[in-house]
Amino acid sequence: MRNLSTVDRMTNEPFSIHENFDTVLKQISKAARSAGRRAGDTHLVAVTKTQSPNALREALSYGHRLFGENKVQEAEQHWNDLKKEYSDIRLHLIGPLQTNKVKDAVTLFDCIETLDREKLARALADEMKRQARNIPCFIQVNTGEEPQKGGILPHELAGFLHFCRKDCGLAVEGLMCIPPVNEPPGLHFALLRTLRDSLGLSCLSMGMSADFQRAIMLGATHVRIGTSLFGAR
Ligand SMILES: *Cc1c(COP(=O)(O)O)cnc(C)c1O
Repeated sequence: MRNLSTVDRMTNEPFSIHENFDTVLKQISKAARSAGRRAGDTHLVAVTKTQSPNALREALSYGHRLFGENKVQEAEQHWNDLKKEYSDIRLHLIGPLQTNKVKDAVTLFDCIETLDREKLARALADEMKRQARNIPCFIQVNTGEEPQKGGILPHELAGFLHFCRKDCGLAVEGLMCIPPVNEPPGLHFALLRTLRDSLGLSCLSMGMSADFQRAIMLGATHVRIGTSLFGAR
């Protein structure tokens, strides 16, 4: 199934989003199998930030329905109309969320992967009540303890989880991390998995284009992939 409507911005070569999905899904299955896991245990969150309407349509025509965006406003532009057309689209927020965008985020997204502070937890809980929409959340963990990065520090995670559940009533289902760019990601993935296991959560969102196979070996249930599907941004 060739579909040459898109040009890779790095090489100027036409390439096919459908073929990229084939390739990535095969790589996911293979990594899962070699880790003794079932392929269906890892969900592909196709990251569509900065992509064209055409690219979104191609992913949909491939049959894919699970997408990630890192900005609320761009996500609305991308998905408001398409979500009416395809009722089974599921959107994950994978970027930082400001409290003044919480209302729009709760309206649009089906999972918030970047729950990372008490003020946001309270705002999400209030808004979900208002909209009668209980969206699952993942807590973002700052595994590299980087000052400029969002996320809960590992030693504060148990307390924060308790706060989100007991004080706010949020449905926290998993953990998410973005490892430091200049470090091998494996240690961070392993740490996130250990934290997840110790807290009895089910989901682990980790791994991007450069390292998703490693993340799957270490237990990822959600990999967030943009470049390998849609080309360089
Ligand atoms: C952009 C982004 C991704 C996808 O990265 P690629 O390297 O393009 O696969 C994954 N996670 C987050 C949080 C992102 O912002």
